[in-house]
Amino acid sequence: MNGQHKFLLDESQLPKAWYNINADMPVPPQPVLHPGTMQPVTPDFLSVLFPMSLIMQEMSPERWIEIPEPVRDIYKLWRPTPMYRALRLEKALDTPAHIYYKYEGVSPVGSHKPNTAVAQAYYNKEAGTKALTTETGAGQWGSALAMACNFFDMALEVYMVKVSYFQKPYRRIIMENFGARVFASPSSNTHYGSEILAEDPDSPGSLGIAISEAVEAAASSGGAKKYSLGSVLGHVLMHQTVVGIESLQQMEMAGEYPDMVIGCAGGGSNFAGFAYPFLHQNFTAGKKTKIIAVEPASCPSMTKGQYTFDYGDTAAMAPIVKMYTLGHTFVPPGIHAGGLRYHGMAPSVSALVNHGDIEARAVGQLATFDAAVRFSKAEGIIPAPESAHAIRVAIDEALACKQSGERKVIAFNLSGHGHFDMTAYEAYHQGKLQDYDYPAELVMEAMSHLPKVPAMG
Ligand SMILES: *Cc1c(COP(=O)(O)O)cnc(C)c1O
Repeated sequence: MNGQHKFLLDESQLPKAWYNINADMPVPPQPVLHPGTMQPVTPDFLSVLFPMSLIMQEMSPERWIEIPEPVRDIYKLWRPTPMYRALRLEKALDTPAHIYYKYEGVSPVGSHKPNTAVAQAYYNKEAGTKALTTETGAGQWGSALAMACNFFDMALEVYMVKVSYFQKPYRRIIMENFGARVFASPSSNTHYGSEILAEDPDSPGSLGIAISEAVEAAASSGGAKKYSLGSVLGHVLMHQTVVGIESLQQMEMAGEYPDMVIGCAGGGSNFAGFAYPFLHQNFTAGKKTKIIAVEPASCPSMTKGQYTFDYGDTAAMAPIVKMYTLGHTFVPPGIHAGGLRYHGMAPSVSALVNHGDIEARAVGQLATFDAAVRFSKAEGIIPAPESAHAIRVAIDEALACKQSGERKVIAFNLSGHGHFDMTAYEAYHQGKLQDYDYPAELVMEAMSHLPKVPAMG
């Protein structure tokens, strides 16, 4: 096979600053509202949950924010990550397109999530935080934060969605190995968890419930604990931009520039981390790369949700933000196996989709697993089912090039490996998965529970 397979940077090329999209947003930011008063939140309110340094990053208009040296030191355990040209996939698809992927699965816990976990643990440690609380679904975020807290010698309390706690024990054990305490959510640790258990002792839990528990545990700790979120917030997306900044350098090494940049989107962090530095080139350097965010058809916040103010969590305790949402009461369909289950989408991603700078697409789960298997057969890597949503669209676009004869350059983010997701692959191979389009009627119904936010001048 002709051509270079991988594009590697050395440690000296690790980015020294994150890219902050706030500096280049084509639309003004929407206020973040207090869940009780529905008035814009103050830094004081947020400081119950987050250290001031992260709150300032959230609001910062600065385009570049320096990555602290201790964070870069830990990044160097696995960064810079490789960029591959998928020559074998191109051949299997018989496409004239050139397909590149950035691989974040080489991090110690197998996904992009440590990029922000390490940064958040660092800033909390610096601010004197003794312990963090967080939620996790299948455990990808929890294992990343557990590793990071361990590096900075901080305690961690993880509320893990109950059904995953019992059905997917391996990531729980990884968290415990790093010294975290993991609770099945809903738990009796919090008022909110106890209320849910009283109503339904067999509640399988949900990400929204686990977020509420983790927020409550921090907010009621009298300042001893702070809360950490693995996606959605501006500072989280910004920490992930190391991915895209490295990718720009690697595309340059390859002597090409992408016509299309693709990422899967749950809360939006790996997508934004990969795509925003390319979007920066669109905004400021006259590039015209098409930027595509891919979500599951069964959890379609951007393609079927409304762009409106909604709570960040199920218990309506977290701040209200303007985003694409399926309603904070959203419960992901049980048949859905591919992750990306959050009811909303990061406010900046939402605003850019609404403004037309980002295209949103939804893909079905059978097509997603089909893409995952084809990719692994060609390239050898078993992708996380989440990442496979991006692969699906990359393959679709490469097949469109085969039809049209165009030689487009397609780049996507392979956000993680799927080594702990083999039961989902098994269900696919045994024909137990099916497609499910989330019904528009359920979105309509959920919209009746939106917060009644006063008109914003
Ligand atoms: C958590 C996760 C996602 C989804 O989260 P985003 O914030 O949307 O990136 C995607 N891929 C992998 C591998 C993950 O672990």
